[in-house]
Amino acid sequence: MSSLRAVLDGLFRLVFPDPGGCPVCGAGVAEALCPACRAEIESLSGEPHCDRCGRFFSPVPAPEPRLCRDCRRDAPPFERCRAYAPYDGVVRDAVHRLKYGRRPDLAVFLGGLMIRTVRSDPAYAGADLVVPVPLSREAFKRRGFNQAELLAREVGGQLNVPVRPALDKVRDTPAQAGLPRAARLTNLSGCFRFADKPDFLRGRTVIVVDDVLTTGSTLSEAAKVLLEARASRVLGAVLVAARI
Ligand SMILES: [Zn+2]
Ligand SMILES: [Zn+2]
Repeated sequence: MSSLRAVLDGLFRLVFPDPGGCPVCGAGVAEALCPACRAEIESLSGEPHCDRCGRFFSPVPAPEPRLCRDCRRDAPPFERCRAYAPYDGVVRDAVHRLKYGRRPDLAVFLGGLMIRTVRSDPAYAGADLVVPVPLSREAFKRRGFNQAELLAREVGGQLNVPVRPALDKVRDTPAQAGLPRAARLTNLSGCFRFADKPDFLRGRTVIVVDDVLTTGSTLSEAAKVLLEARASRVLGAVLVAARI
């Protein structure tokens, strides 16, 4: 490194101090996650889940057929959703660091985990398009990036499927957490708008990517809009899903 470059680098670090260390456990490493946290996250997988929405059954044993109560009662508009792991422990910390700790670099590792899940399910083979769940304009300004879009770029890149931000979020919605199920569904109603060329989706299979699936109502709302825009199939892929 030239001395000028070193001086500039030093100045840059004064203005933007490096957060330093593993964003989950704080161990002193330069990479996105320390090897121990990485190994722990990589060892997760294979827990029984709902065949439709992908949420994880807890405690086991899972019911037969493997459908959660919500999906039995009222099948969601998407064909299926799959998650890499349940939303807890070290992977939950990593998602929080990605979103709230401004560590968009974590999306490369976390998106790589989603690829394993998507590749292991033949239903996802032959998808035409990857569409990220959008943030509202205000939320995007606050955070500076859309974590779902970063993950979608990893998934699309590795599947060799184009990524298309075909949805806009037209209004900010109150946090879903803590709302009863009925209120969650109306809370999101009409919050997405199709934002691509008319007929672009006709007959296509779309994978909608998000970071977290809790009730499935965000994915349902996105799927409704994409199906209205003539997509033939809508599948979901998320990094983590709630336990039910
Ligand atoms: Zn760590
Ligand atoms: Zn379900």
